[in-house]
Amino acid sequence: MTAWQIATIGLGANLGDPVDQIERALEAIDSLPLCQVLAVSGLYANPPIGPQDQPDYVNAVAEIGTTLTPEALLRALKGIERAAGRSYIRHWGERVLDLDILAFGDREITTPELTIPHPEIAKRHFVLAPWLEIRPEARLPDGSRLADCLEEVSDHPLRFLRLPRWQRQGVGPPIEPGVEALSQRADMPDSSGPPDSRSPS
Ligand code: AMP
Repeated sequence: MTAWQIATIGLGANLGDPVDQIERALEAIDSLPLCQVLAVSGLYANPPIGPQDQPDYVNAVAEIGTTLTPEALLRALKGIERAAGRSYIRHWGERVLDLDILAFGDREITTPELTIPHPEIAKRHFVLAPWLEIRPEARLPDGSRLADCLEEVSDHPLRFLRLPRWQRQGVGPPIEPGVEALSQRADMPDSSGPPDSRSPS
């Protein structure tokens, strides 16, 4: 467990029913211990990068509040991908579900398992545009503005599909409930207390 942070998650899918898989992934992320979905972008259709003989992707970006460590969050997201039936097909190939940690507060991490911020952020329209939708002032840890990055990208434009079910149901406030709302959940520690007074459940 670590101090409460906002993490930004990129979601993508292009096999099966991609919209439904992304909706279910959002529910699964929100159900993880010590995690709560705070904001979700619209769902966008997007031509594939890499091999072109695969269906279009559906992409979205979500912000979550969490006291998981980045490594524990990655393990949890990989578990959600596996539960959705993901198996490796080919590099940049089709997938039932892809969950990436785009950012974790202002942390910069480079380990064999984890690179944060995700190295592809600044190049990808399907990451930048949905992220800016929920966080217009977003910056990378080096200070660069995502809005400036978006002006530089030349990859495919996105096609808006619809708002996510998560938002329409009004499960959470649209952007940031802050620590108070999180600490009202049974699985959230009281982040106002000293670290050693917190318990995971
Ligand atoms: P992918 O094919 O996108 O599911 O990514 C495969 C591997 O990338 C994962 O098993 C992770 O260990 C690694 N990886 C490195 N940085 C990240 C990140 N920021 N978010 C998700 N996976 C990452």
